[in-house]
Amino acid sequence: MPEKVRINSADVKYTEKHIESRYCYHTQVFCMFYVNKVTPSSTEFTFRTERKVPRLGVMLVGWGGNNGTTVTAAVLANKLGLTWKTKTGLKKANYYGSLLQSSTVCLGSGPDGEVYVPFRDLLPMVHPDDIVFDGWDISSLDLGRAMERAQVLDWSLQEKLRPHMSQLRPRPSVYIPEFIAANQEHRADNLIRGSKAEQVAQIRRDICDFREKSGVDKVIVLWTANTERFCDVIPGVNDTAESLLHSIQTGHEVSPSTMFAVASVLEGCAYINGSPQNTFVPGAVDLALQHGVFIGGDDFKSGQTKLKSVLVDFLISAGIKPTSIVSYNHLGNNDGLNLSAPQQFRSKEISKSNVVDDMVQSNPVLYRPGEKPDHCVVIKYVPYVGDSKRAMDEYTSEIMMGGTNTIALHNTCEDSLLASPIILDLVILTELCQRITFCTQDDPVFQGFHSVLSLLSFLCKAPLVPQGAPVVNAFFRQRACIENVMRACLGLPPQNHMQLEHKMT
Ligand code: NAD
Repeated sequence: MPEKVRINSADVKYTEKHIESRYCYHTQVFCMFYVNKVTPSSTEFTFRTERKVPRLGVMLVGWGGNNGTTVTAAVLANKLGLTWKTKTGLKKANYYGSLLQSSTVCLGSGPDGEVYVPFRDLLPMVHPDDIVFDGWDISSLDLGRAMERAQVLDWSLQEKLRPHMSQLRPRPSVYIPEFIAANQEHRADNLIRGSKAEQVAQIRRDICDFREKSGVDKVIVLWTANTERFCDVIPGVNDTAESLLHSIQTGHEVSPSTMFAVASVLEGCAYINGSPQNTFVPGAVDLALQHGVFIGGDDFKSGQTKLKSVLVDFLISAGIKPTSIVSYNHLGNNDGLNLSAPQQFRSKEISKSNVVDDMVQSNPVLYRPGEKPDHCVVIKYVPYVGDSKRAMDEYTSEIMMGGTNTIALHNTCEDSLLASPIILDLVILTELCQRITFCTQDDPVFQGFHSVLSLLSFLCKAPLVPQGAPVVNAFFRQRACIENVMRACLGLPPQNHMQLEHKMT
């Protein structure tokens, strides 16, 4: 299918297989020696994007959970064009909350003003309706019953989806009780038995089986199972690819999420971690690097943290000094039940805790070196509210002349309806990145992005980045990164918002 956006430029070539663009990347080198000295520099890049969009298969670990069932149901409902009645009227399936499907980018000015197109039209991408799902769960419920257990979707929609969802059944999975809360034990009736090595081998067979039976061209694996406790990083156990593989062979401590990561990487499938735990111990990162496979994570950035990465950015970039950020959550879904155990809560607390660091460090006018706002996160399990999570935040800031500004927020939202479009964006963006290569004038050999796919940061609470790379949490910088990389693939300059043409007399 021809692209919806076509660039008219000598710097962009459309061959049968690729969109090839020449792009000049402008940066600055900073040096402080008596005065701040900034030297502009530029690098010539050539970007190549494969035009053929493959048939994508996505395997979810935790397929029978709230996110797993909701994203599968939402894609089915969109594909079937379903509508359903609620007490407030007729609803229609959509992809609201998806950056790629439901937000737009500005392509320039036409005779009638600025022209915006959906993000998804910038480059050839998988459409979510075409994704084929499969996955694993320690709970054996079919997806029809699991969707009912999740209590996320309206009942009349569930009734329409049930005949389709009931035919889907999660594959047995790896259950190691000490990694998730003890309160999850009753769900664990669908298990892969055997040694760790046998379990990893079974996951690899499952991936091959899915690829073969579904006829998909590519598989991406995404963890949306329960939050695990953190794993200790131990030299000789999980610090290198070799030690991690050895630990799997000898039955040493390896978390189920890391076992899935290892199996995916060994099968050449990108692996994304939607939960907060440290799945990507150094050995797992090392293995991904050795195999040139993408890994991404951690922890979906869906509600409270997303807002935090907007609000703190707004405050600090407006010259206001946040001094205390206190976040309470209560939720009543199974995720909340699992997080009510101290070790699993601790994983979430860590993942939520660093989200303002880059913004704080960016402003030495407001913060001394090492100074940070007080930042406290509380999560409580309240069964009655189900998947409708409540997040209450208080931001206290210092304003001019010793003044204080306090902002209090109350946010109510079905958690899984926020996470599902993020799951779709994560896999679609990852797949697109697998089709992008680039080279520079100094290094003319085409290469892909680094295995640690930091472009996914926008969608993650605790972005995983290559060692030594800066972590960016600020929402609009993360968004601009995705937009501008895609523009580079089309030979377009970064969006600069200067609108100089409207500032001339
Ligand atoms: P959930 O409890 O409804 O679903 C998790 C599923 O994973 C369950 O069906 C459980 O049986 C299964 N499971 C547990 N261990 C497993 C294993 N080893 N292998 C296979 N399946 C396993 O939770 P959810 O609301 O769908 O959230 C899933 C994860 O996403 C959680 O870790 C949560 O913290 C994270 N997350 C969710 C959001 C959100 O907005 N919903 C945001 C950020 C992160």
